[in-house]
Amino acid sequence: MALLVQKYGGTSVGSIERIKSVAERVGKARDGGDRLVVVVSAMAGETNRLFRLAAELSETPDARETDVLVATGEQVSAALLAIRLRSMGHPTVSILAFQMNLATDSNHGRARIKSVQCDRIMRALGDGQIVVVAGYQGVNQEGDITTLGRGASDLTAVALAAALKADACEIYTDVDGVYTADPNVCPKARKLGRISYDEMLEMAGLGAKVLQTRSVELARRYNVPLVVRSSFHEASGTWVGKEDLSMEDVLVSGVTLDQNQSKITIAGVEDRPGLAARIFGPIAEAGIVVDMIIQNASADGRTDMTFTVGREDLRGALQLMTAIAREAGAAGVRHNDQVAKVSVVGVGMRTHAGVAARMFQVLANERINIEMISTSEIKVSVVVNSKYGELAMRALHDAFINGNGGSNSGPVESV
Ligand code: ADP
Ligand code: ASP
Ligand code: MG
Repeated sequence: MALLVQKYGGTSVGSIERIKSVAERVGKARDGGDRLVVVVSAMAGETNRLFRLAAELSETPDARETDVLVATGEQVSAALLAIRLRSMGHPTVSILAFQMNLATDSNHGRARIKSVQCDRIMRALGDGQIVVVAGYQGVNQEGDITTLGRGASDLTAVALAAALKADACEIYTDVDGVYTADPNVCPKARKLGRISYDEMLEMAGLGAKVLQTRSVELARRYNVPLVVRSSFHEASGTWVGKEDLSMEDVLVSGVTLDQNQSKITIAGVEDRPGLAARIFGPIAEAGIVVDMIIQNASADGRTDMTFTVGREDLRGALQLMTAIAREAGAAGVRHNDQVAKVSVVGVGMRTHAGVAARMFQVLANERINIEMISTSEIKVSVVVNSKYGELAMRALHDAFINGNGGSNSGPVESV
């Protein structure tokens, strides 16, 4: 008898009909003997709707009250699914964050999990109940509601799977699994049978929102077997797990596109020790994640520093930069929110050279200008004008994955 954590995303519980069909699937698994903890997201569009309501009342809605508001979406779907399961004769209990003390810090809107207590869940499972958990929410030390960041019902599911030592964490969504690129943008994308934690972590961080980044990080840390599957049918899905040697045979496993990027340049600052700390210290303190950073070679003792942040952080980062630029006597601050980040990811890059050069050539053939570049052991990312983002993604997918040189068909020494 397996202990499974299943998570159903927004589209999967997006209507009464969809909730009924999730209840069927959950009920069938229970009848088969599995012990089930089912984490649900808010119904599709609901979290955005709630954020919009807050935005109509304030330009900068209070973070604590916003969490009280947006956490309700998951409470609704948990209750609805539990109501349906009970009406089908399945003993079921819904559990909210405070009932399992899913303890977080107080960073509203992006709180981090500190611990979770599973005794109540274990008791309910022991009594033969299905446990339905509201994802995305937590509770801080003061007992206030927090939320864990967009898409974080995945994180709730993985955290519970780790704490309960579940046999697997199944993420049910609106696609059949993890693809070589977003199948809604790249029609030639192929479903992967399996992918390593490291690759999935890079892909998620670089824009493949099929799994939330921190959920993959946690799955990797606690070795949680993770599978991504469709909630619409029975296809087998994609396993995310430890890397094995054969994975290195594949040069590029996935191509990602992140259209949610913006670029900030602080121009004409004095090039001296301490400058970078001065700029990025306050940004980090504000909880803003900076991705790529470029510092130009200095001329006349002055330099330009350019970096990228998520578009939702642009306004906050600009405010800080304007103050810092004034203090530091910089020439000015420029920004561009029409940029996209396109990346190729694969553990095969650890052992094979030439991916970056080949990537630049593919983009050059499409006459796409590269504005920034960054690399790590298993990925190469470039920033381009956002209007060319999808074209870049498809061209790179064609080159690295659909063939044109067979880079994905076996070991390649160099390209
Ligand atoms: P859920 O509401 O179930 O959490 P999400 O919308 O968060 O679902 O994630 C699923 C979506 O992720 C898909 O509809 C797809 O457009 C997108 N996606 C982006 N990159 C990939 C990828 N490489 N493989 C599969 N889906 C991807
Ligand atoms: N409902 C939340 C969101 O839309 C969490 C989730 O769906 O995972 O971000
Ligand atoms: Mg999601």
